[in-house]
Amino acid sequence: MGQDIILGKTREEWEAEFPLIRDMSELKEVFWLNNGKKAAEQAIREAELSIEDIMDAERRLARFAAYFRKAFPETKKTGGILESPIRPLNRMQQFLSEKCGSDIKGRVILKCDSELPISGSIKARGGIYEVLKFAEDVALRAGMLRESDDYSVLIQPRFKELFAKYSIAVGSTGNLGLSIGIISAKLGFRVTVHMSADARQWKKDLLREKGVTVKEYGKDYSVAVSQGRKQAALDPYCHFVDDENSRTLFLGYSVAALRLKKQLDAARICVDADHPLFAYLPCGVGGGPGGVAFGLKQLYGDAVHCFFAEPVHSASMLLGMMTGYHDAVCVQDFGIDNRTVADGLAVGRPSSFVGKTMVPFLSGIYSLTDEHMYRMLASLYDEEKIALEPSALAGMAGPCLISSTETGAKYVKKEDLKEKMNGATHLVWATGGGMVPDTVMKQYYETGCRLRDNR
Ligand SMILES: *Cc1c(COP(=O)(O)O)cnc(C)c1O
Repeated sequence: MGQDIILGKTREEWEAEFPLIRDMSELKEVFWLNNGKKAAEQAIREAELSIEDIMDAERRLARFAAYFRKAFPETKKTGGILESPIRPLNRMQQFLSEKCGSDIKGRVILKCDSELPISGSIKARGGIYEVLKFAEDVALRAGMLRESDDYSVLIQPRFKELFAKYSIAVGSTGNLGLSIGIISAKLGFRVTVHMSADARQWKKDLLREKGVTVKEYGKDYSVAVSQGRKQAALDPYCHFVDDENSRTLFLGYSVAALRLKKQLDAARICVDADHPLFAYLPCGVGGGPGGVAFGLKQLYGDAVHCFFAEPVHSASMLLGMMTGYHDAVCVQDFGIDNRTVADGLAVGRPSSFVGKTMVPFLSGIYSLTDEHMYRMLASLYDEEKIALEPSALAGMAGPCLISSTETGAKYVKKEDLKEKMNGATHLVWATGGGMVPDTVMKQYYETGCRLRDNR
């Protein structure tokens, strides 16, 4: 049960002010359009971060490329840059069109962050970037490294000795811990991951195998984060990766936009005023989708339309942005349980930094049921032979919502896109799944088939 009085208002008062709250607390799927969105030019001008910050992050990643080629040989083929491919989803587009009973115009493509090297999820962007930045700061301060050096020297024992004096801590539902744990341990940091109750056993096992200290909490993500933050604050040699507030993480994610633009250019996919780009981004605490969307808006301005996707059990960013209360409210206040198979998205209280940053940029947020994610997981595998974890399917509902719902039509009208939809690109961001063990993936798939085929 939720509370009777939340921030001084009764449930009836909340529902009168924000009618979607009723459906949300009944765990129904909803689709919300953001009235706070501004013209991109103005939003960009007023933002705390800029394209220059994103380019600074990109340059830092480029400095580390030589390190990656040595430390993780699987990154050699991309020159030490951690990046994932885009793929057309022709069959899936057809399938979705039939499912939603209306033609999805334009094209649907998938951004396969499930294939990112090292940790197989979008967390390989922000999480790894933040650890690299910390390592660079430490090495520069120690006078052992200059920015113009070949960073492959960082695999030498003298750097491991340096980094061993420091520790890294993070709170996670699983994937962030995986990314940060792996890269931190490789560089030589001591690392502690505070795992929420949602974290899958195999993720904890894998981290322990790599020498990472895993602390488990019976509670949810917010508790794991605050415990991690508290313990880290006691230790001046500990860097806490703060998923709720970190600008560094956010910028690490945002670099994806610069890379994506190159990929779209190479594939001759045009994005401009006549060829809108819709991006559908699975959202947990907000940093991943927020960073990516922020980067896309810097590059494409009003031509890109970014939507976040959340499980009905954890639609915390929706609650925070819609009400304007951001992290002052959590889904549990409204009797929503924050229990979802989409473990990467199981966050009951959103990042206020991300929510506030994204108000002028974001087009909207929708929620979807676990069953819906499961069914699409099975269908994506059947149609395209692509296997993703449930969280990563959240974006897949987007093209149908735009093409076949009243709210979608309202958005298209409001943005004056009706005549342009044939030239549209629907980009579904597949945020993870690359490291899921086969046995677990098989269970996901079978559950999806059962739900879809109603067995
Ligand atoms: C973490 C995660 C997300 C969302 O990122 P946030 O920064 O938490 O919003 C999406 N998909 C997967 C698979 C994730 O692990």
